[in-house]
Amino acid sequence: MQGLSLRNVELKVTGKKGKVFFREQGELLFTHFGLSGPLVLSASAHMRDFGEENYTAWIDLKPALDMETLDRRLVRELTEGANKDICHVMEALEPRSLIPAVLDRAGLPGNLKANSMTRGQRRQLAETLKGLAFPILGPRPVEEAIVTAGGVNVKEISPKDMSSKICKGLYFAGEILDADAYTGGFNLQIAWSTGHAAGLGAASIRGEE
Ligand SMILES: Cc1cc2nc3c(=O)[nH]c(=O)nc-3n(C[C@H](O)[C@H](O)[C@H](O)COP(=O)(O)OP(=O)(O)OC[C@H]3O[C@@H](n4cnc5c(N)ncnc54)[C@H](O)[C@@H]3O)c2cc1C
Repeated sequence: MQGLSLRNVELKVTGKKGKVFFREQGELLFTHFGLSGPLVLSASAHMRDFGEENYTAWIDLKPALDMETLDRRLVRELTEGANKDICHVMEALEPRSLIPAVLDRAGLPGNLKANSMTRGQRRQLAETLKGLAFPILGPRPVEEAIVTAGGVNVKEISPKDMSSKICKGLYFAGEILDADAYTGGFNLQIAWSTGHAAGLGAASIRGEE
């Protein structure tokens, strides 16, 4: 599925006790290492505890359809393609490169004839389409991070001029601060705004000396 980009899917991230850490609809991408794309970047902001939690990503490939509606859609496709193999019927529902993975997860052979599918098998297929699960083994290395939340606690900074409350004459700006936001310009805005404030703050202390 490497290179496959999915639009209008829902990504849900759960922890080991089923706690939902993230749930949103949007776009995601399969890469050579696993999952990426806008939804995954946003979700990663909510996965802060890889040591403690076992995160699982659930992809709902049909978020606009509830189980009942999806089942009706499957019945329609299976009836129209009654003599076809299920892998070909699925082409009306999902990108071709995704189909083997979906069928494999649902425990269905690709050459199963549409007209021989049982109600239980149809249910398994619908459940898989609504919740394709991937265990999250970990984030990518920090060198690849879009934003790092650099480690300087914002409580130790005076927000007016970005000066350190601990060390006089020291100013912080941008990503070195423990501040991060979703992509879309917010991190750049943090860098510019804090940079501006820190610059003015540092200049004013020089004037005082
Ligand atoms: C691929 C990518 C895409 C991104 N897309 C977005 C986006 O769409 N929207 C968004 O809001 N944010 C985005 N970001 C995040 C955003 O770019 C950063 O949060 C922001 O640039 C941080 O600004 P900064 O000045 O704190 O740090 P940086 O921009 O990292 O600047 C730090 C500078 O310090 C220099 N430096 C490091 N060490 C030393 C040293 N010892 N001596 C001298 N110089 C040093 C570095 O060379 C660098 O020029 C993206 C980041 C990446 C990596």
